[in-house]
Amino acid sequence: MSDPKAKVVILGAGHAGGSMAAFLRQFGHEGPIVLIGDEPIPPYQRPPLSKAWLKGEADAASLALKDRAWYADNGCDLRLGVTATAVNRGDRTVTLSTGETLSYDILVFATGARARKLPVPGADLNGVLELRTAADAEQLKAALGPDRRLAIVGGGYVGLEAAASARALGAHAMVLERESRILARVACPQLSDFFTAYHQARGVRFELGVEIAGFEGEDGQVRRVRLADGRAVDCDAVLVGIGAIPNDDLARASGLECVNGIVVDLDARTADPAVFSIGDVTHRPLPLYDRMVRLESVPNALEQAKVAAGVIAGRPPLTPEVPWFWSDQFDLKLQIAGMPFDADAILVRGDPATAKFAIFHLKGDQIQAVEAVNSPPEFMMGKQLIGNRKPVSRERLADTTVSMKEVAA
Ligand code: FAD
Ligand code: NAP
Repeated sequence: MSDPKAKVVILGAGHAGGSMAAFLRQFGHEGPIVLIGDEPIPPYQRPPLSKAWLKGEADAASLALKDRAWYADNGCDLRLGVTATAVNRGDRTVTLSTGETLSYDILVFATGARARKLPVPGADLNGVLELRTAADAEQLKAALGPDRRLAIVGGGYVGLEAAASARALGAHAMVLERESRILARVACPQLSDFFTAYHQARGVRFELGVEIAGFEGEDGQVRRVRLADGRAVDCDAVLVGIGAIPNDDLARASGLECVNGIVVDLDARTADPAVFSIGDVTHRPLPLYDRMVRLESVPNALEQAKVAAGVIAGRPPLTPEVPWFWSDQFDLKLQIAGMPFDADAILVRGDPATAKFAIFHLKGDQIQAVEAVNSPPEFMMGKQLIGNRKPVSRERLADTTVSMKEVAA
């Protein structure tokens, strides 16, 4: 149903929405593009907010996906500080917080996800922070510095990356995690243990298996975290990093199917042929694993933006990508390819004591996923082997004297 003159309205000017606008123009789309974003700045990258930017190693300008002039120069009507408040799919219109009603030929939900709140007493005290936006990151940065005490609720990516950055800035970091291990949502137990020990050796403290009863303060400023077992953790600021919730409310209200995100097909299209959805807000098929999932990553946002733009511009279909993820903590580069669904064995290649190793998740003689620490060849070749479903020898994979190229040959 490609139409080079179609008016495309994109809701959400984040990584997916901003990239979609760029791909549409790159693929020759000639119709109007309107990009609606409720944040005050043009689309930017969030990954550095917990890493290089937080540590002062990257400036604000370097976060931008495109400089502001690009949007005007490429006929992209970028509306910032504007929220889409309703979608009427019957007459193909969107209502904005400005009171304006916009018509569309094609609508794209790229509304991302928001930080999950912790509904406990004291959550509204000053110094209880979250980390999703550049504005959040400004507040967190202001709270960090030598000897400041940061309590972090949640040992996921946000919590661990912020802990590593806090230590680099000379602050104290205490991670409070409900599960019995960190990174429980995204990594296997062996990798959790490795990251726990690596952080501990660099001064990060952990309390695992704890519930938060509330936050307590003085003069409106948070001073301690109260645990359900009665203990208290003194702090100068709290970062709550307990997961992300898809911004699918608008789509749901418009009658689109949502299951932990907006349900789309391999073309990133909803059941309404005029409506696409991309990025963190989607519940999408993962053909390699024959499942529907919601992925929260930049590679996923880029893949779906490219796929949807390609469909609209009438380009040939793309081969689905192997999902992948990365995280930087201290001098560790974690790269994960694939997902460990249905794996029946785990194989470690290399020695974790050297902080250079990879954990392969195998189903028979096929690799389902690889978690690689400071090991780019294992990540890259592993990702390729996951994608092409080529069988591997477990013995050769475990033997570091056999290169990954030879393993894959
Ligand atoms: P978002 O980037 O969240 O953009 C959605 C935008 O839509 C937001 O600006 C939102 O405010 C806006 N919006 C929502 N509703 C409306 C509405 N009704 N009207 C108008 N606008 C609306 N991923 C990685 O792969 N690697 C990393 O290292 C990594 N690090 C991260 C670090 C941090 C601190 C965070 C927060 C995320 C990180 N991620 C990382 C995740 C990655 O940033 C997300 O997967 C990615 O931003 C998803 O893009 P998106 O466009 O779907 O959502
Ligand atoms: P996350 O990865 O889902 O981790 C949240 C952690 O907090 C989980 O371990 C969760 O445990 C725990 N938790 C939940 N409720 C809790 C509670 N009440 N008390 C203590 N712990 C609790 O989410 P996140 O780290 O907050 O990240 C938010 C988003 O940013 C995600 O989309 C993430 O992918 C993205 N992000 C990605 C990167 C990256 O890719 N490198 C970096 C930063 C952020 P349960 O399993 O029990 O819920």
